Amino acid sequence: MLDQTRTTSASGPRPLTRVDLLLANEEAAREYLLSFCWPDGSPYCPRCGHEKVYNLSNGKRMRCASCKYTFQPFSGRWINNGALSCSDWLALTRMFEREASVHEITESLGLSYNTVYKALTAMRFAILAHALDANQLISPETGLDGYLKGNRLTGGPKDMRMDTIPVYGIIQRGKLAFIDLVPGFQAETVFHFHMNFRLSMVRSGNLVYTDRYKDYDGLIFCGNDTLPYHVIRKQEKQPQLDETNSEFWQYAQSRCAVSAVSPASGSPCISRNWSSVSTIAAARSSRR
Ligand SMILES: [Zn+2]
Repeated sequence: MLDQTRTTSASGPRPLTRVDLLLANEEAAREYLLSFCWPDGSPYCPRCGHEKVYNLSNGKRMRCASCKYTFQPFSGRWINNGALSCSDWLALTRMFEREASVHEITESLGLSYNTVYKALTAMRFAILAHALDANQLISPETGLDGYLKGNRLTGGPKDMRMDTIPVYGIIQRGKLAFIDLVPGFQAETVFHFHMNFRLSMVRSGNLVYTDRYKDYDGLIFCGNDTLPYHVIRKQEKQPQLDETNSEFWQYAQSRCAVSAVSPASGSPCISRNWSSVSTIAAARSSRR
């Protein structure tokens, strides 16, 4: 999280925060982001992990002593997608945390719509890549692997896949909520359970969720226009998620209503607490 600690300023009407100072100074912003890449200060090769690297051109580029790969400090990391300055990344991250829209960020930072859209996509992937089941989440099962070529984000698959809609299961335990990709499940499977096994199902826009299923408090997916929504019957029993209406569920519903769920991925991506800057800077974009 960006440190909002106020730094004293003698002249300005408002004391400058540390973030203000970083946003105004590209070199300081770069140092700040680099501190997340190599916390102990020793660089290593992003390709083979070897720790002996040579500095080329004032530390802006390096070469691995083992595999001879030439790289720069952000090579192989999410932040390396797009051509934003470090100050831009920080400004963008701050607006992302404040849930600004692509249009608002575009206007505020004077960047192109596509640049901002791609950077936000990189942030969302960086957050997703930190999940314990990241390998599953960014895989052919969700279709999200189609957005990556090696460790680079591409514009996404040319044709949106209509045949595979992943289903997620929600488990709430105390103050925690877990969202799992349910292996082997597709939206069609849930429709089948609704029609043949009376699993309660609610549609809200393209978002569909169900009553309790096995260990899950509910199943959830983001549908597309190919699904037979007309077969969804109104049932007397409210889905458990609505019945308990937990803090998490209220939050999740408000997020889904705002973002209408990412249109291309079919994945409700809900994340409450994260450290965006360290995630985007330090996370290696290659999947482990
Ligand atoms: Zn190497």
